[in-house]
Amino acid sequence: MSHLAPAVPRAAVVTGAASGIGKATARRFCKEGAGVVLVDRSQSVDQVAAEVGGVPLQLDVTQKDAGRRIADAAMSTFGRIDVLVNNAGIGSSKSLKDSDDELIDRFIDTNLKAVMRVTRDCLPFITRPGGRIINVSSIFALVGSPGGAAYGIAKAGVAQLTRQLVCDVAEEGILVNAVAPGVIETPLISEHLNKPAYVRNILGPIPLRRAGKPEEVASVIAFLASEDASFVAGQVIVVDGGWLTSRHSPAD
Ligand code: NAD
Repeated sequence: MSHLAPAVPRAAVVTGAASGIGKATARRFCKEGAGVVLVDRSQSVDQVAAEVGGVPLQLDVTQKDAGRRIADAAMSTFGRIDVLVNNAGIGSSKSLKDSDDELIDRFIDTNLKAVMRVTRDCLPFITRPGGRIINVSSIFALVGSPGGAAYGIAKAGVAQLTRQLVCDVAEEGILVNAVAPGVIETPLISEHLNKPAYVRNILGPIPLRRAGKPEEVASVIAFLASEDASFVAGQVIVVDGGWLTSRHSPAD
């Protein structure tokens, strides 16, 4: 069986598409000529979809029927789902000792359980062979960070879900991979940029000496969605300007 995806996907779903990495990914797919369903809980998804040229679907991915509604929208609009990008997510959790039940539930529900449910419910509709599922994890799935317990745990779950799914669906010709972004300039991190400890410990050690741009993650997602990635499966591709490889104690 050929596992090749079309050079350019014909229909893609991107969650969390009203902002940041999701918006850049939706824009990239639209530019390449794909039909795109932009999913987001924010009302601004209507305006973003009009701007990038896709179809908006305003919903909260934590709702139990989110996956079914996403599949319905993609199938009724495009009759297919070639690529599902699970990108919607929230940031800024706390250390475990400071995490109450509400915070733990919110992070695990949004950043992990919603990815599992949406994927499960879209799976029957994903193109075989050639379909792609691309999850957005984080460098904090791969290393610990002070004050980031629920976030890192959920993102580690997304990385493992990526590997796990390969065992279930690769044989049918669906490739599952993830990206693990480092510091990317989006509203998710903007609240941290005025914190000296964040600038010193997170931004400072990036060997490329700058934060990444959403488009620099979107281009890796576009690669994973393309025929060029036809033998890549179960990988968590780090997109961090070298952050994970550097020692976090600049000697000055
Ligand atoms: P962002 O805040 O710019 O965009 C996230 C989008 O997801 C928003 O439009 C938001 O409305 C949407 N969203 C959040 N919860 C939702 C829900 N329950 N239902 C539907 N939509 C929802 O953030 P971003 O930086 O573009 O983040 C995108 C993904 O990248 C997230 O999963 C995030 O954890 C991950 N990530 C970001 C960075 C970074 O530095 N920016 C680093 C690593 C990982």
